[in-house]
Amino acid sequence: MNRIKDLLDFDRAHLWHPYTSTIDPLPTFPVARAEGVYIYLEDGTALIDGMSSWWAAIHGYNHPRLNAAAQKQLDAMSHVMFGGFTHRPAVELAELLLSILPAGMDKLFYADSGSVSVEVALKMALQYQESLGQHKRRHFATINGGYHGDTWHAMSVCDPVTGMHSIFSGTLPIQYFLPRPRSRFGETFVEEDMEPLRQLLATHGESIAALILEPVVQGAGGMYFYNPEWLRRAIRMAHEAGALVIFDEIATGFGRQGTLFATERVGVSPDIMCIGKALTGGYMTLAATVTQERIATTICRGEAGCFMHGPTFMGNPLACAVALESCRMLLESPWQDRISAIEAQLRRELAPAAEYDSVKEVRVLGAIGVVEMKEPVDMARLQQEFVRRGVWIRPFGHLCYIMPPYIIKPDELSRLTNALLEVIK
Ligand SMILES: *Cc1c(COP(=O)(O)O)cnc(C)c1O
Repeated sequence: MNRIKDLLDFDRAHLWHPYTSTIDPLPTFPVARAEGVYIYLEDGTALIDGMSSWWAAIHGYNHPRLNAAAQKQLDAMSHVMFGGFTHRPAVELAELLLSILPAGMDKLFYADSGSVSVEVALKMALQYQESLGQHKRRHFATINGGYHGDTWHAMSVCDPVTGMHSIFSGTLPIQYFLPRPRSRFGETFVEEDMEPLRQLLATHGESIAALILEPVVQGAGGMYFYNPEWLRRAIRMAHEAGALVIFDEIATGFGRQGTLFATERVGVSPDIMCIGKALTGGYMTLAATVTQERIATTICRGEAGCFMHGPTFMGNPLACAVALESCRMLLESPWQDRISAIEAQLRRELAPAAEYDSVKEVRVLGAIGVVEMKEPVDMARLQQEFVRRGVWIRPFGHLCYIMPPYIIKPDELSRLTNALLEVIK
């Protein structure tokens, strides 16, 4: 297939794209290569990346150190089964991760994607409760506006409206949904925000295995920043009611919202935690579910005698080797300074949008800048406009947002914010 047109025609005829119709697909742009913060289309157009390929590419693209780590691992072995074997990349990555993850996390399960790590977390909670003889605890509770992935049980704890639960009604497990806390991040905490959870635990507490939450920042479900105080209290209340707490840090982890993990803003560790997305610096899929020793021990004392999960590509050496290098690079870099500089610039440069008629609100936290519109945006049209201006920003629903690689330079970030302001005006 030599011609770009043939490529696009075949794609249009045969390939599914994320959340895109096959009958009337949104336009797709053919990418030839990417380097640093630039994505180059087949026709040579250079786009400044404002998305980090969905929270993942924190160091930019085609990084010599990540390439070298992948190459070195390829020369040794790209994969070997994890049943009965272990290897340096898996062990060294886990050692590093457990040294930076919140206190108490000491048992790590490698999963092949974020959604799978969420499934694993939910299964861990169920097996834990089962081991304790808590057979009635088979449901999960969460807040509206969440996103935890697209697989079955992960989908069941996504926001029921944006996750279109109606289509799957009767087949999804029934979960409990609470209103999201009104207390915003950085604002005063309102005690009444705890009331829905208090009521839920009082009425259905005994059927709840765990509470699952994206701490502080809700990502794909609405880009909403809420008060860590709510989470501190929620953990205490859940524990008093015999339920576990799962933090999904797949989007928030590795510095994106300003601290290495959002749990640090809460100051209390959850029982189980999911990480993914930026774990490999955006190179390939890898995620992990981490938990505390006492949870793991309880699970393994249960009827099954082990945790019932083990994917084919568990602990993939290639992915672990790249993730290890990516984490080292992050920790060696002045990531706090970079992220606070991005945060300050996003605040300054996106502020004018708050005055636009079409805009409901502008909010910024860490390296995440969000412009919430009053009406849903025309994604296809906006995307074309962004590409015309040499930037890659992909809005969804009411939201236009920027979350660039941490290595972006001030003038490149200004090009993103300028383009965003121009297009939404
Ligand atoms: C992206 C995401 C997931 C799902 O991860 P995949 O790798 O896409 O399966 C789960 N939870 C959160 C918070 C996410 O942002």
